[in-house]
This record gives sequence, C-alpha cells and structure tokens, in this order.
Amino acid sequence: MPYKKRSESVVLKTLRILNKRMKLTEDEQRYYLNLEKGFEGEVQFDLLTEKLQRSCHILNDLQLESNKSSFQLDSSLIFKETYSLFEVKNFEGEYVYDSEYFKTPSGKDIQNPLDQLKRSKLLLSQILQSLGCKLTIEAYVIFINPHFTLYQTPPDLPFILPTQLDPFMKKLDQKPSRLNQTHTNLADKLISLHQTVPPYIHLPTYTYENLKKGMTCCKCNTFSVRIVGKKLICGKCGFEELVATAVLRNVEEFRILFPERKVTAKIIHEWCGIVDSRKRISRVLQKNFKMTGLGQWAFYE
Ligand SMILES: [Zn+2]
Repeated sequence: MPYKKRSESVVLKTLRILNKRMKLTEDEQRYYLNLEKGFEGEVQFDLLTEKLQRSCHILNDLQLESNKSSFQLDSSLIFKETYSLFEVKNFEGEYVYDSEYFKTPSGKDIQNPLDQLKRSKLLLSQILQSLGCKLTIEAYVIFINPHFTLYQTPPDLPFILPTQLDPFMKKLDQKPSRLNQTHTNLADKLISLHQTVPPYIHLPTYTYENLKKGMTCCKCNTFSVRIVGKKLICGKCGFEELVATAVLRNVEEFRILFPERKVTAKIIHEWCGIVDSRKRISRVLQKNFKMTGLGQWAFYE
C-alpha cells in the first residue's frame, strides 16, 4: 500500500469540470487531455509499484521546492539504501531518439524528458542533504505505454522502455530492504513539505455565469439526465444514481471551481438545474454539511 496515495491535481479536477461545462479552446483542450493521459500513466505505474513485495515506502506525487525552484516527482520509492525516483511518461507511438527531442515523421516532436529528470534529481538531492539523509538517489524515466517505441536509444540512459518494465520491476524487488524509523521520518518529512496546490497554475478564464448549469451523469458526463423519484437516470448510458449523491457530487464541483463562494441552497439549486425544489437541495445540504445562519441566508461548510 502506498505511504502517500495519488489523487488528481486541483488543475486536472478543475479542467475536467470545465471541459463539461464550457467550450475549451483547442490549446486548453490539448493541455487538459495531456494532463488526463499523464495521470492515467501514473496510475498504471502505481499498479506495478504496489505489487512490490520488498518493504519500501511508496510516495506517489510529491510537489516540492528547493532553493525557490519547484519540482514534481511522479513516484518515489524509499528503500533501505536508495531513494528511487521515477518520472512517468505515457507517450504513445514511434519516435527516434535525439538528445533534445524525440522525433517523429509527422513532426509532432516531444521534448526529451532527460533534462527534467536530471533537474528533479539535483533538487531532490539538495533537500535530502539538508535533511541529513544519506540515501543514494536513483532516477529513471518510465515509459509506461505499451504502444511506445523509441528507436536509437543510447543504452546507458536511465530510460525504462515498455519491454524492459517487467525485468526492471523484478530487479527493484530484489533490493535489500529493511526499513527503520529514519526512513519513516524521511517519508513523513517529505509529505509535510508537499505542496497541495502547485505554484504555477494555468487555467482557462471562467465565471459562474458563463458555465453550463445542470447535473451530469457520473459515468458518461452527459447532461441528458432526468430525475425519477429518488434517482437520477442517465438518458445516454442508463446509469442510475441517488439524487442526493448526485447533488453532493455537484456541490463538490461547485466548490472546486469557486472555493471562495458560499454554498447556499439557492445557488446549488441553480447549479444543479434539474432538481425541482430548493427544499430538496436544502435537505441534502443539511444532512451533509454544517449549516451557518438561518433561512435564505444559511450557508453550508
Ligand atoms: Zn451516463
């Protein structure tokens, strides 16, 4: 089990909601889909690290800062003598290696992640040093997608290609490992340094007014849902969800997009769109949140 679990970043969560409720520009759409794909790849790698039998601390997704420079570690494994850090790439397709870019005939080149890896390793080593930690850092780029090929890759690079993943994981599982309190202290310290909101956030501009209101299906994201009794039923995929659960899901979306705005029955009624009465919304909110104030001025936290 991971010592620190992975969850979607605030940016990804926000873009997921915005993608449903407004028209993203082509660039924004591409950025969003890249994040989605990157996250998917990281989750795939988590499935492999969780299978390791050796005792090690798994830290998924650390956003850290050293000397005013921010950096992100997709995945870290703390073993007895080593700190293994992994940059996970979910690239797909055929590329030819080049020190600066991975090249493809279609011209959609991608930046060689080696520089990013070196930078992360350096910044991490500064942090470990300041904490008096003497573990040796090993850094790798993991190419997780089975449909990725990189021709002419120099053999001495810290790259793990899809066909090398299985033997690589087996090798990791043979590392000497008996963790003690020092390792746990290090893991705890790094988690305490983790920044939940990354310093640079690029988000499309949005306002409450320009977003599409209504409830969506939690399986297929369509707005074509209707309420029958206590259930929200999707007209596209047929999925059924309790209205109360769906309202809470939509409150969560509202809070992610507008963390500074108060959650009131009036605004959630408008946000959810298809719920017939405001009283029904109030009942769900009262059951699940702490109410402050009374009547029409009541809000929920
Ligand atoms: Zn659906």
